[in-house]
Amino acid sequence: MKVHTNFDLTPFNSYRIKATCRTAYFPETEADVVSFYQNNKAYVLLGSGHNVILSKLYYDTSFLIFNGNYSDVSINSDGMLVAEAGITMLRLSELALENSLSGLEIFYDIPSSLGGAVVMNAGASGEEIKDVLLKVRFLDLVDMQVKEIRKEDMNFEYRNSFFQRNTDKVVLKVWLQLLHKEKNLIKEKMETIKVQRWAKQPKEFPNAGSVFKRPNGFYVGAMIDELNLKGFTIGGAQISKKHGGFIVNIGEATGKDILDIISEVKRLVLQKFGVELEVEQRVI
Ligand SMILES: Cc1cc2nc3c(=O)[nH]c(=O)nc-3n(C[C@H](O)[C@H](O)[C@H](O)COP(=O)(O)OP(=O)(O)OC[C@H]3O[C@@H](n4cnc5c(N)ncnc54)[C@H](O)[C@@H]3O)c2cc1C
Repeated sequence: MKVHTNFDLTPFNSYRIKATCRTAYFPETEADVVSFYQNNKAYVLLGSGHNVILSKLYYDTSFLIFNGNYSDVSINSDGMLVAEAGITMLRLSELALENSLSGLEIFYDIPSSLGGAVVMNAGASGEEIKDVLLKVRFLDLVDMQVKEIRKEDMNFEYRNSFFQRNTDKVVLKVWLQLLHKEKNLIKEKMETIKVQRWAKQPKEFPNAGSVFKRPNGFYVGAMIDELNLKGFTIGGAQISKKHGGFIVNIGEATGKDILDIISEVKRLVLQKFGVELEVEQRVI
């Protein structure tokens, strides 16, 4: 396992917030992950860092960073795919395509590790990772035992999961059940979704996707539009002029700039619409 000290986290969070941690570990195997938790008492885990707000300039802790490593994968003839948590959803969706397997098309354009996707119950267009999930192997930090849990016992909700509610459990390996389908149909769905999403999202600035969860009966982007908040800026962070649901880093945004915008949006939305917004991104 590679280990670095005084490690620059800027390239490992999609907001590109500048921050440093005391030590960063890059595991390649399950044994590496288990040994990290056996030997570190204060820690933070990053899958691919696409849904986090780094709120500190310096972390006096150890970071475990998957970043596309820890990514062994196997596929059987019945369409069952078994992969380690660090593999990216891009790679996984491309592998599914190569094997004429359908079910991961939307993840072609959701930047994520497999573990992060399970924790966040990531999804789009009415589909979520839970739809194709069978079971998960995880490390329970309470007793340091490796265990398995079936989908039925995970109580998935919109952008919420057993693992988000239990942050002392680490996703190690995931079983997905995909369906055989014609390759060109799978490819067409992947490309269509990507084109539609790129037309709406502010790809020109670093961001971490939608800041808030969608509240029942409301659209965050529409409420922010109505409040004339598009372009609202604090320091280097700005509510995207293209999509009100995104905050973008237009310069040297700090975690505090982003959190200050979030507080202001929450205050104004509550005042005008009576809606309590819930932040989707994880503040670290
Ligand atoms: C341009 C853009 C578009 C996006 N569009 C979407 C979208 O359409 N739908 C959607 O759902 N999301 C979207 N997102 C958000 C993001 O892609 C998802 O939340 C993704 O699943 C995050 O995965 P990650 O590996 O990057 O997690 P990270 O950001 O690394 O981590 C998120 C949280 O999960 C925890 N975690 C990560 N891996 C594990 C693990 N193995 N075990 C336990 N805990 C773990 C971390 O500690 C952290 O608390 C978008 C983001 C961007 C930048």
